[in-house]
Amino acid sequence: MNSITSIDKEYVAGTYGRFPVELVSGQGSILTGSDGKQYIDMGSGIGVTAFGTADPQWLAAVTAQAGKLQHVSNLYYTEPCALLAKALCEKTGMKKVFFSNSGAEANECAIKVARKYSAEKKGEGCYTIVTLKNSFHGRTLTTLSATGQDHYHELFQPLTPGFIHVDADDVEGLKVAVASHSVAGIMVECVQGEGGVIPVSQAFMSACAQIAQEQDIPLIVDEVQTGNGRTGKLYGYMHYGICPDIVSTAKGLGGGLPIGATMLSEKVQNVLCPGDHGSTYGGNPVASAGALTVIQRLDEAFLAQVNEKSQYIFSAFENAEGVEAVTGKGLMIGIKTLKPAKDIVMECMEKGVLCLTAKDKVRLLPALNIPMDVLEKAVTIIKEACK
Ligand SMILES: *Cc1c(COP(=O)(O)O)cnc(C)c1O
Repeated sequence: MNSITSIDKEYVAGTYGRFPVELVSGQGSILTGSDGKQYIDMGSGIGVTAFGTADPQWLAAVTAQAGKLQHVSNLYYTEPCALLAKALCEKTGMKKVFFSNSGAEANECAIKVARKYSAEKKGEGCYTIVTLKNSFHGRTLTTLSATGQDHYHELFQPLTPGFIHVDADDVEGLKVAVASHSVAGIMVECVQGEGGVIPVSQAFMSACAQIAQEQDIPLIVDEVQTGNGRTGKLYGYMHYGICPDIVSTAKGLGGGLPIGATMLSEKVQNVLCPGDHGSTYGGNPVASAGALTVIQRLDEAFLAQVNEKSQYIFSAFENAEGVEAVTGKGLMIGIKTLKPAKDIVMECMEKGVLCLTAKDKVRLLPALNIPMDVLEKAVTIIKEACK
């Protein structure tokens, strides 16, 4: 055990099962450990470093902004925050953005907006949010309540009331839930990430959108992981031909600095009034300047390359030895293997490739701009480990 590992073990709260690697630097999709060993990064900090480590454009924007003004407060205007909100709205058709610092916070805001909208329209008894079983929406007590996985809930009772969970892809179950509760919002991931990289069906997503529209229930799409080009479209919901009322995102948006964004459609754009919500760091100029360089580059030509790399990975693993199934969209990929996923991840790590798991799958979330030759090298090693 090196000294950093032992200091961390002694002083950092024991919430993470860390791999026995200390990372010290990186460039693009290559990370370097404290022992000098190099790794191909197939996890990008759980889908955060969208353009890899120390991406030159991101780095230039962030360092320039840090040297000018690293933080003011939301009592004043700053350029990066305003321009980022404008770029997000212009690219999605959404009307307003609330900025925070993480995915959980982006979802907290989404839930507050849905509840306030519904309380004003239908009365304060209308507060129930329908989410999906096997979902993941964050670790704060309210987003934990939204998360439809019981094992996250144990020993943290009482949770925030007013959340019910239906099976993904169960349209009838959704209809029953909406008919039997006073529903203030429907909240879904379009690809369940932590739940095992499972896309929801077109039929289910269409039903969510239709019920939401017919019954004037805000539809929230949690794009914390699926957003910002990850699935091969700018936002995952764009695969489904629907228009959500609220879109939350984080992870890849900041390219490596903490930022969360809750995008509000025309219907809910004015729900939040002065004093209703806030965040000291929200829209921080350094994080926003970096995020702007991420969003600006996610155009059709770039997303076409993301989709090409996705197809390459899918065809490499479909029918590969030791592989049962490949799921996901874009560069958000789950591989169901015969061997335990954890064993494969450990073997890959020894051979210089860092992968993730999600439930019983090997999960790949490489940087969106991972060079093809680097990707091919990683795929060869992962395939070998699956055997
Ligand atoms: C990661 C994730 C979150 C939580 O994001 P944090 O930044 O860790 O708070 C919420 N929803 C989804 C879908 C996620 O993947």
